[in-house]
Amino acid sequence: MTSRFSQFYKKSLEERQKIIKEYSNLSAEESALLNKEGSLSLETANHMIENVIGTLSFPLGLATNFSINGRDYVVPMALEEPSVVAAASNAAKLSCGFKAVTDESIMVGQIQLVNPEDPQKAKETVDKNKKQLIEKANSRDSILINLGGGVKDIETRILETERGKMLIVELFVDVKDAMGANAVNSFCETIKEKLIELTNTKARARIITNLCIARMVKAEATWKKEVIGEETIEAILDAYAFAQADQFRATTHNKGIMNGIDAVALATGQDFRAIEAAAHSYASFEKKYSSLTTYEKDSEGNLVGKISLPLAVGIVGGATKTNPVAQTALKILGIKSTQELAMVMACVGLANNFAALRALSTEGIQKGHMKLHARNMAINAGAEKKQVDETAEKMIKENNISVSHAKEILEGMK
Ligand code: NAD
Repeated sequence: MTSRFSQFYKKSLEERQKIIKEYSNLSAEESALLNKEGSLSLETANHMIENVIGTLSFPLGLATNFSINGRDYVVPMALEEPSVVAAASNAAKLSCGFKAVTDESIMVGQIQLVNPEDPQKAKETVDKNKKQLIEKANSRDSILINLGGGVKDIETRILETERGKMLIVELFVDVKDAMGANAVNSFCETIKEKLIELTNTKARARIITNLCIARMVKAEATWKKEVIGEETIEAILDAYAFAQADQFRATTHNKGIMNGIDAVALATGQDFRAIEAAAHSYASFEKKYSSLTTYEKDSEGNLVGKISLPLAVGIVGGATKTNPVAQTALKILGIKSTQELAMVMACVGLANNFAALRALSTEGIQKGHMKLHARNMAINAGAEKKQVDETAEKMIKENNISVSHAKEILEGMK
């Protein structure tokens, strides 16, 4: 059995489904699942990526209670993990509301020029021709230029590498309401030939950097000591200090933040890989990998949480318009700009982080989480629809939430 399916990409969706059914010996029921359509039609999906055989659904939930910069938001979140939506809603409810700010939508494209004979001279030549290069780049995207976006600046730096000195040319692009990767990559392509001509080098990589530190979002919230308790504040500060000092803890701490951010990203059709790459890279930017959030007490002893991260999101371009649910999610949010979306996402990340720290430093993360997970375990153990609730409740009551125990309960029901 070879995985080298001949001309697979040229086949129709039905042909591909037939091939994979035979290859993987799928039952009629299993292969019927591939044909099931949700809000994203198979036809649209087939135009979005290559070698499509079906679509995959996620639960779409709503986080409530968010007040950001004095405005209320109901936040769509798509993910498979129980308790994330509840945790975000609860953390928002306990807070005094969120304040957030963002930078402009500046993304950076990098052009790698290799083998410069005289790197310093090549650098100076590019610097001298900056204005002309910006004009040439901006000639390619009249839509963005008319919106006030486009290439705003060019910087150069010589990079020492194991393959010799390279000249790195960086384009600072205002991408307005787009995530911006396609736009920036195209700007880089547009001036590639001119750069080769000016510097007598070879141009290799021409690509956006996802570490978009010129596109930062910052958010903060206060949780009053009368609401969450002084001992909880101490517990959260201890948990935060652990994450700040230890990379193993910080990784999971940041994962909890991304639970919220990724879920909003998925619901609104964002490139969540780009968001993840930026967040984790920023967590170790010019320092040891650490927490994306900070916590401290204010003068009255209340807890103040803050988050700061680079966040590239779009409300135009990419898949935001192709996935119909993403459009509905953006409408539910009622946001007007990509900056507003970034601010909401940062607040949700902070809320999820607060909730996780509170749970794991007090009653333990498993209590609430496993209760919600009990239903999943019952399904995994083979419970039929009508058996799910009863099995989950029994597991919770007996304080033994596991697939093996769910199986025992189901066996007992027979
Ligand atoms: P895009 O090219 O689809 O949309 C951007 C374009 O939309 C602009 O160039 C502009 O011409 C037009 N536009 C119309 N109204 C606009 C407005 N109000 N604001 C800004 N632009 C407006 O998409 P994109 O945002 O440039 O790129 C996003 C896509 O690139 C994502 O799907 C992502 O997955 C993909 N991508 C990512 C990477 C990466 O992150 N490393 C690399 C390659 C591709």
